[in-house]
Amino acid sequence: MPVPKPTPAGPGQPGAESTKGRPPLHLADLDPQERRGAAERLGQQRFRGDQLSRHYFARLTDDPGDMTDVPASARVPLAEALLPRLLTAEQEFSCDQGQTRKTLWRAFDGAYVESVLMRYPGRVTMCVSSQAGCGMACPFCATGQAGLTRNLSTAEIVAQVVAGARALAAGEVPGGPGRISNVVFMGMGEPLANYSRVLAAVRRITDPVRDELVPVNRRWKIAEVLDAAWGYAAATGRRVSIEYALIRDINDQPWRAEALADLLAGHLAHVNLIPLNPTPGSKWTASEPGVMQEFEQRLALRGIPVTVRDTRGTEIDGACGQLAAAGRARPAPAGG
Ligand code: SF4
Repeated sequence: MPVPKPTPAGPGQPGAESTKGRPPLHLADLDPQERRGAAERLGQQRFRGDQLSRHYFARLTDDPGDMTDVPASARVPLAEALLPRLLTAEQEFSCDQGQTRKTLWRAFDGAYVESVLMRYPGRVTMCVSSQAGCGMACPFCATGQAGLTRNLSTAEIVAQVVAGARALAAGEVPGGPGRISNVVFMGMGEPLANYSRVLAAVRRITDPVRDELVPVNRRWKIAEVLDAAWGYAAATGRRVSIEYALIRDINDQPWRAEALADLLAGHLAHVNLIPLNPTPGSKWTASEPGVMQEFEQRLALRGIPVTVRDTRGTEIDGACGQLAAAGRARPAPAGG
């Protein structure tokens, strides 16, 4: 989709990348291993790279003030080094009762790019730019006529998606809190002319948090598990019980309740919401009561049978494996 070309920051040459400086390095330019290395080079422990990733990709924040699981003294240096602000919203336009939002972004070097968020019933599509300008010179396209300014970095592409996801999660787009379901590279630029960075951006965008939380998911994806469950329900007529452990800021957002409802709608299923029992040494903890209540209400409103499980046993490390974990954390008795 060609989008109108704003005044370019400088004359671009079709087919040739500008010699202007590169955007500042950003966490989203790096793969998970490189992020750990970057944290280490900043004098921090390697897992800070994972923590920063969760804040940016899952919680959609780059504000050090939100990073309460990172020591206060480390937050600002980490955020300054790895989460620089890459794009500044210069102008925003909306139509379709606010469900289509177009943003004009200014990059660090004054280059302009555009992204468009489009909300439809049942899906949200984010259209992003992969280049500032374009070197393809398609005669019908205003972007092409002005030539290429430069390739966008991986993180600059990802930043457009994160901004859209943030607006949706915050309920800024009419229709209630939501999530992006589709990303298309139909904004400015020819994505295949910036192939490696576009591919890296796709990897970042689709990188599942879930694989970290539930390692077995690397082998069996949710869709496969649910397929097996629906097969079981069809064969036996028995209701499938879905045990959903609510983890604060990880999987308890309203849009995830809606996504779960999408997966379960029309099936013989019941959801048990289980506030996560904190485990010694784990960084994950239970959702706030109000958040759990909203999650439950959203499922119920969608017609999904749901109950919140009573959290007995917290004080006795009642969740599976907790006693063993606590035992391993204790020093062995002398002579034992
Ligand atoms: S490839 Fe480039 S010039 Fe051609 S339509 Fe797309 S943005 Fe415009």
